[in-house]
Amino acid sequence: MVSKMQLHAVGEACPGYSYIGGDDLSSLDEGKEPVSCENCIHWVRGRCDIDLFDEVLSSLDQT
Ligand code: SF4
Repeated sequence: MVSKMQLHAVGEACPGYSYIGGDDLSSLDEGKEPVSCENCIHWVRGRCDIDLFDEVLSSLDQT
């Protein structure tokens, strides 16, 4: 099970992160929400569709 903290940490470090909510009304306040896989276009049904998640997560573990 992946935690919210991991989704956030991976999103911050991921070279493939791309914000999904460009025209979502909920993004209007401050125009920002925390970077996370959950709001990346590549996060599909609970996994990364370009398989960067495991790679980024394991690179984080080494620090
Ligand atoms: S969903 Fe994939 S591409 Fe997007 S931030 Fe997470 S690991 Fe990176």
